[in-house]
Amino acid sequence: MAEALSGHGATGPAGEATAADRGWLGEAIGLSRRCPPSATAFAVGAVVVAGDGSLLATGYSREGSPYDHAEEAALAKLDPADPRLGGATLYSSLEPCRFRASRPRSCADLIIGAGLRRVVIAWREPPVFAPGGGAALLASAGITVVEIADLAPQARAVNAGLLRE
Ligand SMILES: [Zn+2]
Repeated sequence: MAEALSGHGATGPAGEATAADRGWLGEAIGLSRRCPPSATAFAVGAVVVAGDGSLLATGYSREGSPYDHAEEAALAKLDPADPRLGGATLYSSLEPCRFRASRPRSCADLIIGAGLRRVVIAWREPPVFAPGGGAALLASAGITVVEIADLAPQARAVNAGLLRE
């Protein structure tokens, strides 16, 4: 699957979103369209990219099991000892979860544990299935969180059936 994604180049500087960041986030949103449907969880896509623009892993909601989250699925494909993780960026169509019922570790916890230093998101988690707060938790751990809000409508559109708006 990784081969199907086009390269977008090196990830952006810490707090700014570049054209490459927008391209990689667009890939994450594209992955969210592959998720098996669910009435109780959002469809989310995630990609992890090294600082030099190498794609390290991809994931999407319910990729391998009904409980999989996108970020979790992507991080599970990585070697925790990979030295590139410290310079890698995780792109997710939705803010990583801070609270979850299905498994003990939230995606924000997993990202912190993986040693990533930068996360780029499109859409803040609305309080439909769980309270948000993942971005704040990441920031409190010293991780740079970049929000590209003008891509949020695309990430939301994939989940239109779950939203009452
Ligand atoms: Zn999650």
